[in-house]
Amino acid sequence: MTEVQLQEFKLEPDSELRFEVESKNEKVVLEVKSGYAELFGTELVKGKPYEFHTGAKVAVFTWHGCTVELRGRTEVSYIAKETPMVVYLNVHAALEQQRVAAEQENTRGPVTMVVGPGDVGKSTLTRILLNYAVRMGRRPIFVELDVGQGHISVPGTVGALLVERPASIEEGFSQQAPLVYHFGHKSPGENLELYNTIVSRLAEVIAERCENNKKASTSGVIINTCGWVKGAGYKVLTHAAQAFEVDVILVLDNERLYNELKRDMPKFVKVVYLPKSGGVVERSSTQRAEARDARIREYFYGKRTPYYPHSFDVKFSDLKIYKVGAPSLPDSCMPLGMRAEDALTKLVSVWPAPALAHRLLAVSFAAGPDDHVLHCNLAGFVCVTAVDPERQTLTILSPQPRPLPATVLLLSDLQYMDNH
Ligand code: ATP
Repeated sequence: MTEVQLQEFKLEPDSELRFEVESKNEKVVLEVKSGYAELFGTELVKGKPYEFHTGAKVAVFTWHGCTVELRGRTEVSYIAKETPMVVYLNVHAALEQQRVAAEQENTRGPVTMVVGPGDVGKSTLTRILLNYAVRMGRRPIFVELDVGQGHISVPGTVGALLVERPASIEEGFSQQAPLVYHFGHKSPGENLELYNTIVSRLAEVIAERCENNKKASTSGVIINTCGWVKGAGYKVLTHAAQAFEVDVILVLDNERLYNELKRDMPKFVKVVYLPKSGGVVERSSTQRAEARDARIREYFYGKRTPYYPHSFDVKFSDLKIYKVGAPSLPDSCMPLGMRAEDALTKLVSVWPAPALAHRLLAVSFAAGPDDHVLHCNLAGFVCVTAVDPERQTLTILSPQPRPLPATVLLLSDLQYMDNH
């Protein structure tokens, strides 16, 4: 048995304790002993133990000073005095002023997009700004456009949440009733046409919802994006900025991207350059793949609060599975009036086969394949855990008991090995 390590840290005002949990099956417990501290914008309760597991990379920040205890084995743990938190707080204050103005003038609150290359802390800044807004009594909308390392539903989707309370320290933002659209790949580059289509659709639906929810509308929107910022990745960002009619773009740690956006965005869009935190940890492609896997596992089995998914068989003949995107033909071969890119958003019927094993299937709210499927949001996901060609059945892991709703299922590229 390994000895439980106990470390105590005294933090001065405006400093943060950074730690990482690396070893397999490791658990580290954090407790604030005195003073006040927050974790990515969520206040920590004094004397309450918080658990962190393998892969966690954490910063406990304090504005006023505090004492913190860590129990368990951390790979790295140190106090940093240099952080960009004051700059981030100023951004929050500026957004808050715009919300006050929106309330007084009965207009829309600030729509903010966070951009930057991989591993600069985009998701973390998004979380901090949402937490600060909701702590001020606002109800902002969180939009996740990162299909690879997103924080809503499972990877391979874009989505939105109305944030009504700060993110839970261990579980993130509450995932009740998110608005989710199917993409099915882990990078926008795998089908740019489809990506732009669903981003535009999400923007449209959010604009409609804001018309009926004044509180959300004045609180504004915070959009997290992918770390792909060059070439076609840049075009994807400018398309999203246009679709959401953004007011503010926060550029983390990339002067080239900042200058390009300054040049290309209309004058009324404020493009702001922000430093990244020295604490942001770079992740290898293996770590990214593990993080995606962990998100899918959490979707079915929960994180701190356990979920109990159902497993059952479904007959091939009872399923309507489609994938999005037919192979594209040159324009000269297309019927008159159709573009080659249109093929990329077409539904193609998929007959169940052993190759479906371990793949995720999105359960669409669309009633049938002609029902504007890409414009319909998702009810959720199931995972194919086994395929039996003899009995002509699939075994399905599902958050809901049988039967599967008799709707359209959309095949995702993402896989999950269920060995729970
Ligand atoms: P991606 O390109 O994958 O979307 P990102 O730019 O959104 O990445 P984050 O996910 O915000 O980056 O941060 C990367 C990792 O660094 C996360 O695990 C996060 O918890 C950690 N992290 C962020 N800020 C700090 C900090 N100040 N101290 C320690 N760890 C941090």
